[in-house]
Amino acid sequence: MINGERIIPAPIRWAMVGGGQGSQIGYIHRSAALRDGVFQLVAGAFDIDAARGKDFGTEIGVDPERCYPDYQTMFAEEAKRADGIEVVTVATPNSTHYQITKAALNAGLHVICEKPLFFEVAEGEEIKALAAAKGKIVGVTYGFSGSQMMLQMREMVANGDLGEIRMVELQYTHGFSSTEVGDKVSEGQKWRVDPKIAGPSFVLGDLSTHTFYMSELICPQLKIKQLLCDRQSFIKSRAPLEDNAYVLIRYENGAVGRLWTSAVNAGCMNGHRIRIIGSKASIEFSDHQPNELIYEVQGQPIQKMIRAMPYLYDACNADERLGALHAEGLTESWANIYLKFAIAIDAKQRGDEETLSKLVYPNIDAGIEGIRWVQNCVKSADAGAVWVDFK
Ligand code: NAD
Repeated sequence: MINGERIIPAPIRWAMVGGGQGSQIGYIHRSAALRDGVFQLVAGAFDIDAARGKDFGTEIGVDPERCYPDYQTMFAEEAKRADGIEVVTVATPNSTHYQITKAALNAGLHVICEKPLFFEVAEGEEIKALAAAKGKIVGVTYGFSGSQMMLQMREMVANGDLGEIRMVELQYTHGFSSTEVGDKVSEGQKWRVDPKIAGPSFVLGDLSTHTFYMSELICPQLKIKQLLCDRQSFIKSRAPLEDNAYVLIRYENGAVGRLWTSAVNAGCMNGHRIRIIGSKASIEFSDHQPNELIYEVQGQPIQKMIRAMPYLYDACNADERLGALHAEGLTESWANIYLKFAIAIDAKQRGDEETLSKLVYPNIDAGIEGIRWVQNCVKSADAGAVWVDFK
């Protein structure tokens, strides 16, 4: 159970790049990182607009002198301080992740970066080698994956509760981009449909990287052999970037999977669903009911498992905070991820590789696999929706 007890010697000095006023994702980073007292927000280059970034940083309690006009100035100035930053979160649009992460590692900082991590697997491998050389960790904020029910599903699969895994059904869809209005008026949407900033995909990178990581977390034994992706731009101006995609998956061991991702699922506010089907039973998770897991054993009444109950696996309940009487949700899921980043950073700083090897959290490898996923999907789709070997 998580209850605010000290788990590392002192709060880690933390800064943000991006996540400024009006940004979509800045607040949840701060609410997660600051939740358990393991990080202290001491600096930031919060905004592409330097003055707005300084005003915003000051408003949220950061020393105005440590609200910097850009990340290069922040890394240089903080390096001169005895109490300088130790880790930085990168919460800027996709095209900037690689250069900011590289600069941060070269400045001697740990990095927590948004997804999709970068555009090319080769960039991910280069950054992985750099992080290893510098003795730093790179974490990726697949925020939904901190839900306790992900760990329950992982344990159930590992312990054979479902039998042999046969099918994996994944969905992450919404309908908020069903028209092109947002593409024109919303700053946070404009860049998502611009390949120079978003990268080679829209929804595959923006949405499905989360769900793909969750499937890897739950079923680490499943390795993709081939996939086939068909992607569409229902709003024509978005082409070549897709606002809808279907992916069929063949795993090396004969299991199969299917993923649907969409921003034009009109009427849907949040269709984030994972169903794992084995030879004996199935489990199903929906982001709208994060305190529940549906467990269906063939031939038996349907069961609903409730978060924090003692019948769940210890690995699941280790991350619970409020007991089963009260609901937890996405903000707790994110806080769990940030807690693990803190444990990883502390372990790395102490040279405790054993703790690091056992810690389950979205690390650089999870980021690289997300890039590989998008690259292979785009390759398949652009070749005419054909099967491609997953490389
Ligand atoms: P946004 O457009 O709403 O906000 C981007 C913020 O970054 C703004 O404050 C902007 O001023 C700032 N910025 C841009 N370039 C900068 C630079 N060079 N230096 C400093 N600040 C800069 O974008 P968003 O929706 O918050 O997305 C940001 C990132 O987070 C993207 O990579 C996106 O894919 C990811 N994201 C992740 C999740 C999740 O659940 N993990 C959810 C939404 C977005």
